[in-house]
Amino acid sequence: MNPFDVLIVGGGIIGAVTARALSEYDLSLGILEKASDVGTGSTKGNSAIVHAGFDPVTGTLKARLNRIGNETLEPLCRALHVPFRRNGSLVVAFTPQDRLELERLLDRGRQNGIPKLALLDADALHALEPALAPNAVAALHAPTGGIFGPYELTVACAEVAVANGARLLTDCRVVGIRPDPAGEPAPDGARFTVTARTHARDGSLVEETYRARFVLDAAGVFADDVAALAGDARLSIRPRKGEYLLLDKRQGTLVSHTVFQAPGPMGKGVLVSPTVDGNLLIGPTAVDQDDKEDTATTAEGLAYVLAQARRSVPALDTSAVLTSFAGLRAVSSGHDFVLEESPVVKGLVLAAGIESPGLVSSPAIADRLVAVLADAGLPLVRRADVRMDRDEPVRFRELDDAARARLIARDPCYGHVLCRCERVTEGEVVDAIRRPAGARDLDAVKRRTRAGMGRCQSGFCLPRVLEVLSRELAAEEETLTKKGPGSSLVDGRIR
Ligand SMILES: Cc1cc2nc3c(=O)[nH]c(=O)nc-3n(C[C@H](O)[C@H](O)[C@H](O)COP(=O)(O)OP(=O)(O)OC[C@H]3O[C@@H](n4cnc5c(N)ncnc54)[C@H](O)[C@@H]3O)c2cc1C
Repeated sequence: MNPFDVLIVGGGIIGAVTARALSEYDLSLGILEKASDVGTGSTKGNSAIVHAGFDPVTGTLKARLNRIGNETLEPLCRALHVPFRRNGSLVVAFTPQDRLELERLLDRGRQNGIPKLALLDADALHALEPALAPNAVAALHAPTGGIFGPYELTVACAEVAVANGARLLTDCRVVGIRPDPAGEPAPDGARFTVTARTHARDGSLVEETYRARFVLDAAGVFADDVAALAGDARLSIRPRKGEYLLLDKRQGTLVSHTVFQAPGPMGKGVLVSPTVDGNLLIGPTAVDQDDKEDTATTAEGLAYVLAQARRSVPALDTSAVLTSFAGLRAVSSGHDFVLEESPVVKGLVLAAGIESPGLVSSPAIADRLVAVLADAGLPLVRRADVRMDRDEPVRFRELDDAARARLIARDPCYGHVLCRCERVTEGEVVDAIRRPAGARDLDAVKRRTRAGMGRCQSGFCLPRVLEVLSRELAAEEETLTKKGPGSSLVDGRIR
């Protein structure tokens, strides 16, 4: 088998945005992802905030790439039809001590080159956000803050990369990376043999091997383990869990800005923010743990989130809670992004310690990783035959009646609403399956279309989406899953 020029381990936002950037060049690219879809790690469980950039310590990679990413993320999202809104952010002070904290953040923001930062007094603050607690005394306003769709961007970038020829292999867990012995280059020009474990059709585990010239480690909380497989054991990544509550659209306009709390002795505080889809998000907690797979929410964590969020917005209505979720931050011992060729293993490029602000920085991180690969010897020859954007996915719920009628006349599948809560049509589900890097299970359809994300949380649309998946993939419903092996939805049929 021909070797890959670059084999990317991890299909999170970093792997996907970098794969898209690399697909502009004449390279053979592979993405190996252990889950059944891209964007299911930290990229799925987070605040989805486009941070303005006043928080990271001045002089760090985080500070620099946050500032650049805050500017470049918006055009990237627009080109790929990914939801993005520059709603601005507020860090709210409740005490004189908090106010000093705001001044410190303002100062740091100015040093980081963040534009338009301003301190607001209580009157100005309450005029902007009437639902804020009456005892809020001041805020740091950052108009360049925003919100966006992280897994939508990940899916979109994977789609572009695959359309440009990259191979995406899901359910493919890398379990070995063997650098070739130094000295003679291998006849195929590769430096690495990568072993990955995947499920065979009968459910058994099988191992496949791949050859690669460069390996890009974008494995999130597992980046230290993946680097160690290749022989670089210097990294240490500790997961830090963040739990959230998501409220339905009745609460989605309670605030229009992302409302942070001034950091204090109790930690960085809990945010209250609208989402790009019109919901309201509150969270997260911050609790260190050892387990890199445990993303369960806890009663204590969610109670804490609710109590803290009510300090900012007392009118939060718990009857509007739709669901809860958690994500794991990849906290590195150096507390900065690690974006470099491993000094220990030639050809192994590291994208490690990508905790917040990793989402907003992702386009800048990808550019930097491309530069690191080029410096390490990857030849970059631009291709003429590539397309870096994609066709806009239909969002039926956003169309007016005339546009809906035209769509249905062209394809009657768009006249069949499968998800009533979010008004998602069969046509949209079919499209999500047929696109490059298309959906293969229920959650993948959900992330691409929002079918199942509404009030009933897929109670109504689940069997209908399964039917479409079964038809489109020519697969028995018994073989379909929620999110890959071990999560089947249909045990058998009652005849
Ligand atoms: C609670 C929380 C809040 C956050 N809020 C924000 C925010 O508001 N704004 C912001 O900018 N950033 C935020 N972040 C940070 C952001 O979510 C991350 O920086 C970003 O998602 C990291 O992306 P990634 O691709 O590096 O990791 P991931 O998304 O975790 O992707 C890594 C991928 O590698 C795969 N993988 C791992 N090991 C293997 C293996 N052996 N073989 C194959 N595949 C493997 C995983 O399955 C996973 O899909 C937050 C993070 C958390 C947890």
